[in-house]
Amino acid sequence: MKALFIILDGVGDRLWEGKTPLIAANKKNIDYLCENGINGVLHTIDRGIIPGSDTSHLALFGYDPYRYYRGRGTFEALGAGLSLEKGDIAFRVNLGTVDNNLVIQDRRAGRDAYRLKELLESIDGMEIDSIKISARHTTEHRGVVILKGEGLTNKITDIDPHKTGAKVLRCKPLEKKADFTASVVNKLVDKAYKIFSEHKINKEREKKGKLPANYLLLRGAGIYEKIRSFEERYNIKGCCIAGGALYKGVARYIGMDIIDVKGATGTVNTDLKAKAKAVFDNFDSYDFIFVHIKGTDSASHDGDFDLKKKMIERIDSKFISEIKNLDCIKLLTGDHSTPVRLARHSSDPVPLLFWSKDVRKDNVKNFNEVSCAEGGLGHLKGKDLMRIILDYMNKGEMFGE
Ligand SMILES: [Zn+2]
Repeated sequence: MKALFIILDGVGDRLWEGKTPLIAANKKNIDYLCENGINGVLHTIDRGIIPGSDTSHLALFGYDPYRYYRGRGTFEALGAGLSLEKGDIAFRVNLGTVDNNLVIQDRRAGRDAYRLKELLESIDGMEIDSIKISARHTTEHRGVVILKGEGLTNKITDIDPHKTGAKVLRCKPLEKKADFTASVVNKLVDKAYKIFSEHKINKEREKKGKLPANYLLLRGAGIYEKIRSFEERYNIKGCCIAGGALYKGVARYIGMDIIDVKGATGTVNTDLKAKAKAVFDNFDSYDFIFVHIKGTDSASHDGDFDLKKKMIERIDSKFISEIKNLDCIKLLTGDHSTPVRLARHSSDPVPLLFWSKDVRKDNVKNFNEVSCAEGGLGHLKGKDLMRIILDYMNKGEMFGE
């Protein structure tokens, strides 16, 4: 038996005027699976823990994030298709705009990607104290920076203060042996600032009325190490269908294949039919298909209840409608709650539905945060999920005899 594992990012919510977007949404296909399946609520990392998307995905795939999480930059780099070797340090980076006093005018350089790819290429291949620097543009004002060489660590602080109007930060060591890494990072941002400030691309951007992208706002340092793959661990072959780089990165980190889907953008406008088609196209080649849909979380971060509800309805009519009759185990859940009223992640558990033709059906008929808590699966933790899935796939291992 194969498994289709669908994550709606940040889908869980709290009540707003008595409803959550899941309660308010018209979603007959999701509710069909809910009514014919078994349901519960999931604490993706643990009760009361507010999960990041990176740590929660590790937990959902059965990898203890307290053991395997080594910073987000690693996932962003892998998700952007870069290769990493043991000990490499990877950062996420925003190309930002600072004034002469290094105060941030815009953390996103006007969200304008104009020639930022070439701008980052101007520091790609640079060497500082025998550490090789790679830089790659990803989307909009974003990119990835990698440090390669001996004696590096990710136990350092961010350059990005995460606030407009604040001065950029200096990289500081979080442990004694991180002095060297912090010094390389500070030299890098200083050199990059000098190069970017005088760069003809920025002069051209300014002439066009765009903000100059003159500062490397580095954050989320991660250190890479190869870990035991999903396939080695569970003896099943997995693939990932996602738009966002982070999710592809987590999947690559645990050794899943990445399926590139044209139109899968990781935004509320993603092509959901194309994602459903990718499930069918790859169904024969894999035992476990992970599908990630980001739009529910983006709408939550914008504090937009109606957009989140509409995204759920679109997922129902364009994606779930297509795959609901596939002959496989189906799981639908979230990686964390992102209540629209908070516009941030919260520790509230997420609803979970599990469908298999022989599963012990419960009495839950509507897939939402409140009714799923009454379901037959009760309260689960993220790390429980893979064991349950493997058992239904006939890949579980008996304890004792
Ligand atoms: Zn998330």
